[in-house]
Amino acid sequence: MRRVRLAHPADLEGFRHALRALVAEGTPPAEVLWETGPQEALPLAEAPGLADAPPLAVPRRFAELAEAVVCHSDPARFALLHEAALRLRADRRLLEDRADPLADRLLALEKAVGRDIHKMRAFVRFRELADPEGPHFVAWFEPEHHILRANCGFFIRRFANHRWTILTPEASAHWDGARLHILPGATKADAPGEDPLEALWTGYYRSIFNPARLKVAAMAGEMPKKYWKNLPEAAAIPGLVAAASARTAEMLEAGQPADLAGLAAAAARCTRCPLHGPASRTVFGEGPADARLMLVGEQPGDQEDLEGRPFVGPAGQLLDLCLAEAGIDRARAYVTNAVKHFRFVATGRRRLHQSPDASHIEACRWWLDQELALVRPALVVMLGASAGRALLGRPVTVGRERGRELGLPGGWRGFLTVHPSFLLRIENPEAAAAERARFVADLRAAQALAQARAA
Ligand code: SF4
Repeated sequence: MRRVRLAHPADLEGFRHALRALVAEGTPPAEVLWETGPQEALPLAEAPGLADAPPLAVPRRFAELAEAVVCHSDPARFALLHEAALRLRADRRLLEDRADPLADRLLALEKAVGRDIHKMRAFVRFRELADPEGPHFVAWFEPEHHILRANCGFFIRRFANHRWTILTPEASAHWDGARLHILPGATKADAPGEDPLEALWTGYYRSIFNPARLKVAAMAGEMPKKYWKNLPEAAAIPGLVAAASARTAEMLEAGQPADLAGLAAAAARCTRCPLHGPASRTVFGEGPADARLMLVGEQPGDQEDLEGRPFVGPAGQLLDLCLAEAGIDRARAYVTNAVKHFRFVATGRRRLHQSPDASHIEACRWWLDQELALVRPALVVMLGASAGRALLGRPVTVGRERGRELGLPGGWRGFLTVHPSFLLRIENPEAAAAERARFVADLRAAQALAQARAA
C-alpha cells in the first residue's frame, strides 16, 4: 500500500505532484492511501519519484475538475481523480459521459464545491473588531467543503484594502492588507459578536419582511437553513410579520448610523448578494443630503464600476445633457442606482451589461431605502423598469406607467420614465430625437412636481 500525505485537505499542488508519480509508476488507485496532514506542518507530498514524474497527458477539463474536486469533503475524492486520470489515457472523452458512474460522480462533486464557494461568497458576514492598529474585519463561516483557500482570491480582490480574517473550523485565512496567511482552524467563539451595522441590518430585515410575498422554498434555495445560524438577519425570520414599509427612517432616527458618508462606507463592504463578487466596487449614490429630486437608475455600468461614481458612462453623459435641457442642475439632485454593483458577463476583455434580477434588486433595496430615509426627497424619478421595480416593489411596464406621479411604499412620491440607456439603443435618428424630447419632457414634469411638493 502506497501512503501519500498532502499538506492540507485541498492541497491541489501536492495532489498533482503525487498523481504524476503514481500514474508514472502504474500504481492502481486501490493501492494508495491518501492522508492529509495538519495545516502547513507537513511537506506538500511524500509520494516517491515526484521530481522525475512527467506531466500528465490529460485533457484541460480534467485539470479544471481536479481543482474543484480536491476541495470536496468526500474522502474518496483523490482516489476518484486518480482513477479518472488513468482512464482518460484510453478514453479522453470520459468526462463528457454523464452515463459513466465515475464521470457522473466527479461532476457532482465539482458542482457541490462550486455551490459551496458561491454560498460562502454570499453569506460571509464580517464584523469589525476594535483593534488599536486600525479596522480589522472578522467573519466566522462553516463551509461544507474545503473551499476556504479557493475563495481567498475572491475576498482579497473584494477587500484588498482592509485587514480581514475568515475563521472556519478547518483553517483560517488572514489578509493583512498585503499578504495572505493561512492559519489553523478556529471556533465560533473566536469570532467577535454583534456590531451596530449588524443590528441595523437585522432591524431593517424585520421591517421590510412581507409575509404575503414569502416563498419559503425559494428563500431556502437562496439562503439554505444551514447558513442561517451565522446570518444576523436570519435570527429575525421566525418572528417576521410586518409588511415592507419605511421603518428605516424610524431606525435611523432611533440613533442608528445616519449620514450618507457612513452609509456609503458601510455599503462598500456589502456582500449581501453575489453581485459584489465580480464587480470592482460598490457604486453608491451621490448628491446633497437635502436634494429635492432623487434620480434612481438600474445599476452601475462598466465605467461607473471603474470610477466608483454613478452615471458617469455614456448613459450618464446623456442624462446630464437631458437634465440640463430640462433645467435641472444635476449637482442639486441625488443620483443613485437600485443596485449598487455592476452585473455583467465577461466576453474576452469586454464586460457586457446584464440587468440585475429580482433577487439582486430585493437585496439591494436596503441601501436604497436608507438613502431615501436620509435624503427625504420630494420626488423620486425612477429611470427604467429596474428602478421602478425596486421602488414600487413590483414588476412595472414603463410604457404603461411613465410620465405621472406615483405613490411609493413608505409614503414617498415617485415618477417613472425611461432609462437614458434606452435612448442610446435607438438606431433610427428621428426616433431617437423624438424619444429624447419625450424624456426631457418627463424630466421637466418631474422637476415641476418636485418643486410643487417642496413648496
Ligand atoms: S448589489 Fe447591493 S446588495 Fe448586492 S452586494 Fe452590492 S451593495 Fe450589496
